[in-house]
Amino acid sequence: MNPIDYLRISVIDRCNFRCQYCMPQGAELAYGLRQDWLTRGEILALVEAVFMPLGFTRFRLTGGEPLLRPDLVDIVADIAALPQTADLALTTNAFLLEKLAQPLWDAGLRRLNISLDSLDPDTFATLIGRSGVGWHRVWAGIQAAHRVGFDPLKLNVVVIPGVNDHEVLDLAALTLDRRWHVRFIEFMPIGNGDLFADAGWVPSEVLRQRIGDRWGLTSGAVRGNGPADVFQIPGAQGTLGFISQMSECFCDRCNRMRLSADGWLRPCLLNETGQLNLRDMLRGGMALADIRDRVGALVTAKPEINFKMRESGTTGAYSRTMSQIGG
Ligand code: SAM
Ligand code: SF4
Repeated sequence: MNPIDYLRISVIDRCNFRCQYCMPQGAELAYGLRQDWLTRGEILALVEAVFMPLGFTRFRLTGGEPLLRPDLVDIVADIAALPQTADLALTTNAFLLEKLAQPLWDAGLRRLNISLDSLDPDTFATLIGRSGVGWHRVWAGIQAAHRVGFDPLKLNVVVIPGVNDHEVLDLAALTLDRRWHVRFIEFMPIGNGDLFADAGWVPSEVLRQRIGDRWGLTSGAVRGNGPADVFQIPGAQGTLGFISQMSECFCDRCNRMRLSADGWLRPCLLNETGQLNLRDMLRGGMALADIRDRVGALVTAKPEINFKMRESGTTGAYSRTMSQIGG
């Protein structure tokens, strides 16, 4: 069992995209109020006085779209400055990254994951539910991050049959002469059950076969810190990751907890058992040491919660989408 030392912190539930697989147009969620979000001070207090003493050293900021949060750079600076922070990363759609890449770097961020589901501006517009300059701005954001020094950059691709699966080779080819990590994520039935029912999902093994047929693929998967199995096209500068939560259960190597923008701490992406609202505890005046005890008990219970879900499958109804949970 891996140590549970990684916290994904969603800083906002809002998003400027309407990705078909996450928060499709017309099925928007009722956003929470700003005052429902954990404040910058509350996030820092939880990280420093609750999670770090429990052994958490690795953090990822996510959303919704985290670049929409006005005090994001300050939140990054707060966490990056803590001596116990071993790793701090951010997941973004990169639409606002061109201007923010440098301030984020200056605040101490060194790792970025960017969602890029297509290299074709029209397909991209369809996928994100926004017409216009979307793809070009995202690409400019990626270039800016590269220039500023984020290395390696990770690009996340959710593969949807009939929508972007024909681009898998083009996306994989980005790793040939760039030190980028392109990670293919199996589409999950969270967020848009209708699309999932219509389109289905592509097993990672099928993608590896296609890529392998074109260029060959290193045979031994290198297991990273996270859920991705990492491969490489021979001679390529970058790597390919495959996140296969549909075709392969990786609960037994799960090392993470998730904190939502409105303060819900959940031990498992797919399972709401045991979740705690840390914002209510803080605002209700509970001492940080008592919150730590409650969180510590949930961390201890987490492997059991994961495995329970594994036995009952992963296709049940979810009451929250990825944009609310933070992916
Ligand atoms: N807005 C940011 C972004 O898109 O990168 C961060 C939040 S987003 C919810 C985090 C990750 O969840 C993204 O990489 C996205 O592709 C993934 N995601 C969202 N819905 C998904 C689904 N139904 N299946 C698989 N991955 C999904
Ligand atoms: Fe927004 Fe990210 Fe969800 Fe797309 S995947 S709708 S960018 S939160």
